[in-house]
Amino acid sequence: MIVVTAATGQLGRLVVEGLLARVPATEIAVAVRSPEKAADWAARGVDVRVADYGRPETLAAAFHAGDKVLLISGSEVGRRVPQHLAVVAAAKAAGVSLLAYTGVLGGDEAGFRLADEHKTTEAAIRASGLPFVLLRNGWYTDNYTADLAGTVERGGPVGSSGEGRIASAARQDYADAAVAVLTGEGHEGRVYELAGDTAWSFEEFAAELAGQTGRPVAFRNVTADEHLQVLLGAGLPAPFAEILVDVDAAIVRGELARSNGDLARLIGRPTTPLAETLKAALAR
Ligand code: NDP
Repeated sequence: MIVVTAATGQLGRLVVEGLLARVPATEIAVAVRSPEKAADWAARGVDVRVADYGRPETLAAAFHAGDKVLLISGSEVGRRVPQHLAVVAAAKAAGVSLLAYTGVLGGDEAGFRLADEHKTTEAAIRASGLPFVLLRNGWYTDNYTADLAGTVERGGPVGSSGEGRIASAARQDYADAAVAVLTGEGHEGRVYELAGDTAWSFEEFAAELAGQTGRPVAFRNVTADEHLQVLLGAGLPAPFAEILVDVDAAIVRGELARSNGDLARLIGRPTTPLAETLKAALAR
């Protein structure tokens, strides 16, 4: 069985749909904390199992010997180390045949705080002795399109990334890479640095948005302190706002601009360009 955790999230949903297009539903399981959200897949023949990273007692039955498991990193930043380690321990106890993990671009070398929990998780996966694959995901372009209409209304994005560039790709691209690994052969022990083919700066992002909307849109680069105040003013909790400002500092250092072509190679096509993701988001 191929088992996808956090399958009711946005990435997980795309992965499961990709798997359903390639293998019979009877060979797919989802391991989720909210099984009611997976009722549509249960109806299509997918095995729905319960797996709440924060409740280790739910994890013992989530994996079976020989399963190929995709551990999608959780979204509760700050709590993910014990959560992910509990999943790794359960996968080990079950004797899964492969543990794939969605980490972060740069892995051990990533210098931003958001990477810390991924580093610890990757170390635990290696220490488990299980056959593994590390899918070090770069940024989703989609991170910046959730409120595109609002961004246009406000006259453009605000941030502290300066002229730094981001080799982002569509969430769909990362999902397709996970599907390729889960349904393909020869990925054991591989570490994939996944990023978009073309890196862009926020000035270019704003220019593209202006071009597509015909509205005056420009990037407003501010200091890290000002950026923090903008995010707090928008209602973000302080710890999360600080993490986002720290990410922009990493973008300035070029940490999210690296692209070695792994993603395009895995999915067998170029990654989705920024302009295409913006166009799709504007059309929604
Ligand atoms: P989503 O926020 O859409 O989904 C997060 C998923 O994690 C949900 O399915 C959620 O379950 C699940 N989850 C959270 N906590 C737990 C838990 N305690 N036990 C079990 N499941 C849990 O994020 P995406 O799908 O877009 O992204 C997947 C992951 O990638 C994120 O969780 C995050 O780690 C990382 N990420 C990467 C980004 C990037 O740019 N590379 C950007 C954003 C996130 P439920 O459906 O029940 O809420």
